[in-house]
Amino acid sequence: MTPPKKLALAHLPTPLFRSDALDALVGARVWVKRDDMTGGAEAGNKIRKLEYLLAAALEQSADTVITCGGFQSNHARATALLARRLGLRPVLLLRTLAPPPPPPTTGNALIDVLAGAEVRAISPEQYRRRDALMADVAAELQAGGARPYVIPEGGSSGLGSLGYVDAMREVAEQLGRGEQGAPPRVDAVVHACGSGGTAAGVALGAALHGVSPAVLAMAVCDDVAYFERVTARLIAEARPLLVSAPAAHPLRIIDAYKGPAYGVATPEQLRFIGDVARASGLVLDPVYTGKALYGLAQLADKPKTALFLHTGGLPGLFAQGEALVAAQPDARVSDSW
Ligand SMILES: *Cc1c(COP(=O)(O)O)cnc(C)c1O
Repeated sequence: MTPPKKLALAHLPTPLFRSDALDALVGARVWVKRDDMTGGAEAGNKIRKLEYLLAAALEQSADTVITCGGFQSNHARATALLARRLGLRPVLLLRTLAPPPPPPTTGNALIDVLAGAEVRAISPEQYRRRDALMADVAAELQAGGARPYVIPEGGSSGLGSLGYVDAMREVAEQLGRGEQGAPPRVDAVVHACGSGGTAAGVALGAALHGVSPAVLAMAVCDDVAYFERVTARLIAEARPLLVSAPAAHPLRIIDAYKGPAYGVATPEQLRFIGDVARASGLVLDPVYTGKALYGLAQLADKPKTALFLHTGGLPGLFAQGEALVAAQPDARVSDSW
């Protein structure tokens, strides 16, 4: 079998980061894999998946890419920018929670608009049928002479997941070199889980490359049963695309720290984001990484050593600025006029 084609779009390898103050805050020895540094404005975990997905789009001579997500989707923003880099036209179906007008074009949505993406706001009800809806839009654009390629929510397909199998090889090499004093293996890889593709790839890759005996995927929406179903499907899709696949995988999904809703964090989680920034200079986001590292800090059966995947999400922070500031006990700007 020839491995699927892959583009080189990300800035790799991403560094490992560690900090005594962060360890003290989390209560474990933590190496942070800075996948928030995979690029510039397109940075985050989605690039690694899009290296495979957009290679498939080009192979099929597509001129348009269609994808979907929440209105503040990091995946949609990364897709819009990388599509433009490759000369493709991005079409984004973005879920909005209330009827029109759409929310302010800030954060990720601002970048979508700057990239000239065609943004179509859709309802939560339409979003539930997202795959059928994207197929309809593809048919519509095809009738107009375009050659569309559909990328599923979060870039999560078996093919997209391969990006995180590769990322675990990169981590194994960094651990092997003892970067930042890292041990050859960690007790667990910990990351935020939103559409399941990262979890599927990390689970396969951690087993294949001997990174850790456990992968803790912190759900930011839905629940354990949902993600067990989704990741089982993605892992089954990814396996035949691998030259060698591990017999078993160490994935454990945890849904106890997802907060009140997707995109909504508790005041404690929002405060924790400030605590992390003050302790270490590391900035987490309120939708994914803040909840995931907070979950690790709260966990009863905490691993002693962990690789925390910082999956990005910085633009989403700017869409929640007021809530974040309100949650910091000592946030103030003094008036020195
Ligand atoms: C999409 C995303 C995730 C979750 O990755 P999935 O593969 O969708 O589960 C985590 N963190 C950030 C910042 C993301 O944008």
